[in-house]
Amino acid sequence: MIKTKHTGYLIIISGPSGAGKGTICSELLKRNKNLVESLSMTTRAPRGKEVEGVDYNYVSRDFFEEKIKEDYFLEYAIVHSNEYYGTPKEEVEKKLEEGYSVILEIDIQGALAIKEKVKNALYIFILPPSMEELKRRLINRGTETEEKILSRFKKAYQEINEISKYNYVVVNDVLEDAVKKVEAILTAESSRVDRIEELDLGTTEELVHEDLLKWTICYTV
Ligand code: 5GP
Repeated sequence: MIKTKHTGYLIIISGPSGAGKGTICSELLKRNKNLVESLSMTTRAPRGKEVEGVDYNYVSRDFFEEKIKEDYFLEYAIVHSNEYYGTPKEEVEKKLEEGYSVILEIDIQGALAIKEKVKNALYIFILPPSMEELKRRLINRGTETEEKILSRFKKAYQEINEISKYNYVVVNDVLEDAVKKVEAILTAESSRVDRIEELDLGTTEELVHEDLLKWTICYTV
């Protein structure tokens, strides 16, 4: 039996707030044992039912800026309403070394910073089915002020302008379809030759010898 072992890699998932990145990522994690998600640190306050250590590490601005000085982040950015968001470096590196692929659900600034630092990462952009639907989703979340909703909606247009920086785009209309599309992308990506770490042909030396012998006999007859 021929076996291949693949290296873990970074999967960058971006898209406007309300496109459904979070829900898609949760489904991917439930269904794929070789995937883990990086837990970001942020200075923004928890929203709705969000939980510390599950959705984010919620910290103060001073603490975050201290961590920047310590070179703690793989990437960080100021995203919505002047709040910091960042990906801790050590945890991501550890998971990659253990062979996992690591999902980073980050914005375009973070994605571009990763491009500068990491070879071979995969970039997927999630789009809502329409801008009307995006606005409806943001309003229906009911967790933010009108001003914040408007700012996220404006940022959505800026982010979509950067779509050419990504490898794949998936429209999240029906959740199950979108998850299947991302899974198909991951299957194809994991089959890439440059992601193979080990190729085990499972062939013993005797077998190679026997086959060669037969081949030589056929050839000489
Ligand atoms: P939210 O406040 O809705 O949870 O996230 C706002 C935006 O910040 C989203 O686009 C999300 O992908 C992005 N984000 C979350 N964590 C990080 C991170 O660690 N780094 C960067 N650059 N963006 C992040």
